[in-house]
Amino acid sequence: MSLRTVFTNFSKLAALSQRKYSTNASVKTAIITGGARGIGKGIALRLAQEGFDICINDLERNATTAKEVVQEIQSLNRKAITVFADVSSQSQVREMIQTSVGTLGPLNVMVANAGIVEMRLGLELDHSEPGPRGGHVKRTMDINFGGVVNCNVEAAKQFVRQGKGGTILNATSVAAYRASPMQSIYCASKAAVRSVTQTFALEWGKYGITVNAYAPGIVQTPMWDHVDEELSKQNGLPKGENFKNWENGIALGRTSTPKDVAGLVAFLASEDARYITGQTIVIDGGIVFT
Ligand code: NAD
Repeated sequence: MSLRTVFTNFSKLAALSQRKYSTNASVKTAIITGGARGIGKGIALRLAQEGFDICINDLERNATTAKEVVQEIQSLNRKAITVFADVSSQSQVREMIQTSVGTLGPLNVMVANAGIVEMRLGLELDHSEPGPRGGHVKRTMDINFGGVVNCNVEAAKQFVRQGKGGTILNATSVAAYRASPMQSIYCASKAAVRSVTQTFALEWGKYGITVNAYAPGIVQTPMWDHVDEELSKQNGLPKGENFKNWENGIALGRTSTPKDVAGLVAFLASEDARYITGQTIVIDGGIVFT
């Protein structure tokens, strides 16, 4: 046996002894935060159809819907788990990634999707607003922006440890570009996501990590039912009527569905998007209203 063969066999043995995961190396895994419903659920199901094993993250209060999504993914013959974690806590995000990696294998894609919208008129904003998790401004920034930062930083550390790069996809919004009534802080949080996406992409390209964001317009989810309800209280329109008005200001003549957004995310998570980084892709059907 030549020295070269001995070395090759030794390398193979060493690689085998260091292998931590029993999963098939060709199967990729993705974490989707806020994956129990709405856009996150749509993304989870689409990525499962694309062959990913999925870690659904959400808050424990959505345990029932999270379980249903997991069952739907398993019926597609993909592995799926739920990890409850509040994305605004960096330590919970770190533990979530550890659990996902320990159960499903190396992480390939982080979709930082979780977010909240609370409707407030600018004149109502008050930094001393009480609440178990701080006031409206702090809560919105902690979850929509801080949550994205936590998921990006902890996923990037995991990708660096794994040494094979990775894909990060962040939820921002058309609200990052334009005013939206009663959503001053929401708009600001989404603009912050758009900004940090660019800088993380710049810093982490050398590790083979891409960082992009998707910016939906109006998507029919529980979040927008809430927006419609709150706006109706202000403008007196019957429930659902705001959606009809919005449709008149969209080039394609309809609001969107989680499936529409999931198609874009599936592309950004694919090999075909490997040379795209630092971008925010708007998916709004051509919003023209002001
Ligand atoms: P949604 O409210 O229907 O779902 C959001 C999910 O995130 C919920 O399941 C919720 O429990 C979870 N979540 C909230 N806070 C969390 C936290 N701290 N930790 C973990 N999970 C948490 O919302 P959606 O409409 O599906 O929106 C998903 C993302 O897309 C959000 O970031 C939102 O801002 C963004 N977005 C939505 C729209 C839209 O029209 N629906 C438009 C643009 C951008």
